Amino acid sequence: MLHPHIIVQESRIAGQGLFAKTFIKQGEIIWERDPWEKHYSLREINTWSQEQRNRFFSCSYQVGEDLFYGMDGSPPDPADYMNHSCDPNVGFLNDKTMIALRDILPGEEVTYDYVMSETRADFYIECKCHSPMCRRIISPRNLIDNPALLRKYRKYLMSHVVAFLRRQGLEL
Ligand SMILES: [Zn+2]
Repeated sequence: MLHPHIIVQESRIAGQGLFAKTFIKQGEIIWERDPWEKHYSLREINTWSQEQRNRFFSCSYQVGEDLFYGMDGSPPDPADYMNHSCDPNVGFLNDKTMIALRDILPGEEVTYDYVMSETRADFYIECKCHSPMCRRIISPRNLIDNPALLRKYRKYLMSHVVAFLRRQGLEL
C-alpha cells in the first residue's frame, strides 16, 4: 500500500515513476507491503519464457535471498513504478516498510536505490537518474566496493541484503 499522496506519472528517469502530490515529511511511511503480495523463487521464474522473465524483472524487486515480487497479471500495484535513483529519498525501515529518508517536496519523484533490495548475481542496470551522485552502473557490487555508500545505506537495507553482504565477508 502506497502513501495516499503519491501518484504515477511520466518520469524523466525511466518510463513511469512515482511523484509526491503534497509535501511528505522525513520519516513518513511511503509504502507498506500488502499481505496478499505473491512471491516467486528463481526456480519458478526460470521455467517462464525469456519474454515473461524480462517483463517480470523490468518491474520487480527482491524480497528474500531467493524470493521475488513482480507484476503477475493481478491488479497492478502503483508502488511497482518506483524508480531507482543514486540519490534516493526513500529507503527500507524494515522488509515490509519504506520511509522517506528526507522531506519530499510536491512534484518531486519518489525513488529508492535498487541496491537496497537487489542482490541477484545478474542484476545490472545502466543508470540515467540525472543525479550528480549517479554511479552509472548499478549492481549489488556497489555496496561491496563502496564503503561510504554502505555506511550511508546501512540502516535502510532489506535484511536479505545485509545477509548477502555478510556472506561477502563485510562486517555490518
Ligand atoms: Zn544514477
